[in-house]
Amino acid sequence: MPLACSLAAQRVALSLDDAPFLRPSPRLEAPAQHRVMLATLKDRKVRAILFANGVNGGDTPEGKAILRTWGEAGHLLANHSYSHWDLNQDDVTLKAYEEDLLSGEAVLRDLPGFTHLYRYPFLRAGNTVAKRDGFYAFLKVHGYGIGHVSIDTADYMLDERLRQRLEKEPSADLAPYRDLYLKHLWACARFYDTWSREVFGREIPHVILMHSRLLNALFLGDVIDFFRAKGWRWIDPAEAFKDAAYALMPRNLPGGEALAEAVAAERGQQGFVKAWREKAKDPDDLLFSEGRLKARMDQLGL
Ligand SMILES: [Zn+2]
Repeated sequence: MPLACSLAAQRVALSLDDAPFLRPSPRLEAPAQHRVMLATLKDRKVRAILFANGVNGGDTPEGKAILRTWGEAGHLLANHSYSHWDLNQDDVTLKAYEEDLLSGEAVLRDLPGFTHLYRYPFLRAGNTVAKRDGFYAFLKVHGYGIGHVSIDTADYMLDERLRQRLEKEPSADLAPYRDLYLKHLWACARFYDTWSREVFGREIPHVILMHSRLLNALFLGDVIDFFRAKGWRWIDPAEAFKDAAYALMPRNLPGGEALAEAVAAERGQQGFVKAWREKAKDPDDLLFSEGRLKARMDQLGL
């Protein structure tokens, strides 16, 4: 197994979904969250890509102004649809879903940094061949690439717990949330990095999926520093998306999921997840799983 080569410097690009996420928030309201994230990225010289939705506030003057500050700071803005629908749902038709991409584009197209990448909400790319392939064709016609994810995370679960805690207890100690968050991300990174090597037979530049949320306003700097301390290098998302792996349009069904998972499913390759679970010696290695993360949060009273 590729333990020895996992010492090489992995590359990872930062993507933040559901921007600008204009919802009421304890501790820092959304505009302040964005100012903090932008300052953190500037300070650490990391370029991010933001995947925005109309429904998450992108279609309001305030939200659009926030997205513009990201573009003006040199970050990339991309389309995560207007409505954040799930293409795998029977009641979401291909036609409506296509129109929703165009509505999402209307929010972004006059902003600096807008780039023609589309990230499927929930990473779900269609529950029928007709929807999956129909939308692939639509993306091509409209000049879009897929904003694939190679490292999926469940940062939103920690964010939800952290918000609930702060609503009850505004001065709560957040260190345990940060520590578990870093453990979770590290478990996800190793899990998906190993799976990607197995599927692609080489080291691909990664794109990690995180969210535009309070959690990342508070801990983005810690996340960047943590990965650097592990020997990982933060790269420009534009560089990652140039890699051939990101041009794939996998034909797994239902469609979507993180790249390694989608391509393995397309090929009918099974067993990676089971083998990884069996091999794990440290319970922290299993924190990539949402169920394990939830159980750990419960156990720690988070
Ligand atoms: Zn999303």
